[in-house]
Amino acid sequence: MPKCPKCGTEVAKPKKTWQLAPKGKKAVTIGLFQCPNCGAFFRAAVK
Ligand SMILES: [Zn+2]
Repeated sequence: MPKCPKCGTEVAKPKKTWQLAPKGKKAVTIGLFQCPNCGAFFRAAVK
């Protein structure tokens, strides 16, 4: 589970996700997460 870079809280659900597909590489899903504890936004890969 992605963790908030500020306070380390694990965030289960992303607010938004999108596909990132670099040329010649496997597509990855990126999620925009908001920490419920401190409110910080951060991006992390979603599996
Ligand atoms: Zn936080």
